[in-house]
Amino acid sequence: MRRLAFLFTALAVASGAQAAEPRVAIAIHGGAGTMSRAALTPEAEKAIRADLDRALDAGHQVLVAGGPALDAVEAAVRVLEDSPRFNAGRGAVYNAEGVNEMDAAIMDGHSLAAGAVAGVHRVRNPIGLARAVMEKSRHVMLVGDGAEAFGRSVGIEMVEPSYFGTEHRRRQLEEAQAKERAQPRAALPASAYFGTVGAVALDAEGHTAAATSTGGMTNKRWGRVGDAPIIGAGTYAAEDCAVSATGWGEFFIRLAVAYDICARAAYRGDSVAEAATEVVMRRVPGLGGDGGVIAIDGQGRIAQPFNTPGMYRGWIAADGSRGTAIFADAEE
Ligand code: ASP
Repeated sequence: MRRLAFLFTALAVASGAQAAEPRVAIAIHGGAGTMSRAALTPEAEKAIRADLDRALDAGHQVLVAGGPALDAVEAAVRVLEDSPRFNAGRGAVYNAEGVNEMDAAIMDGHSLAAGAVAGVHRVRNPIGLARAVMEKSRHVMLVGDGAEAFGRSVGIEMVEPSYFGTEHRRRQLEEAQAKERAQPRAALPASAYFGTVGAVALDAEGHTAAATSTGGMTNKRWGRVGDAPIIGAGTYAAEDCAVSATGWGEFFIRLAVAYDICARAAYRGDSVAEAATEVVMRRVPGLGGDGGVIAIDGQGRIAQPFNTPGMYRGWIAADGSRGTAIFADAEE
């Protein structure tokens, strides 16, 4: 009898384990901004979607193998940093001096460990350096030459600054500077920053993570740092919530956007999707800013609201369904 009871329990555990498939999910973005269908050639669109798919696969493979969300978001962001089509790593926008100056951050929602770098210009994958700051230093955020000296000391790959440059971004800088000369006080166009990258994920342990990497805004000056590397502004992860943002960073910093979304969910009981929508569709434009976020909750539910005409984005949901999209309308 005892043996039968044991057998029954063992079977129940086995079938229970089968029913409770680990619920893993990942979402990524490649930046929000002004982007018209007319300006996007079919070839460019295909290449962008292929990069988004590769990034999704890189992150999702980690998750289905039982790896941590932290590894998944780093893997996804590295793919996008290495692509010249996004404003992060290779292909980053130029600052006013014609230099690519990059910011990145990564955060683990379970331990609340975080690492960030700002103003680096020789680090091939700024997200890897942010992770090293988190795991191998006593600090959360390092900037400029100091961040790079630390990176060298822990074996982070460095490249010549020319590695990051592209013709396309050079032209964008020239256009931005010509516009600024013509209208010195004009607002920055949203197209000045399209292309930041980010990822959020939920792993089989139920832990979340977020990562964001960017070249910031075209024609930025004086060591300007955006929201991406600021924990709580462009990047945040907590027990049941992770957020990565893209958009006009100054507004995201002032509204502590990523933290506000997770705090609304934790303290007010809003769903992460409701919180993300409220902050992105009301709070950010209410102050005069624009952009979007990707967010995930502790069940792997994904939200990707944005208030710009487009946001490069992709997802693999907890049920395995996947997609990539660019514009606001659904028929993509
Ligand atoms: N949020 C970034 C920044 O302000 C730019 C972007 O999202 O494209 O630096």
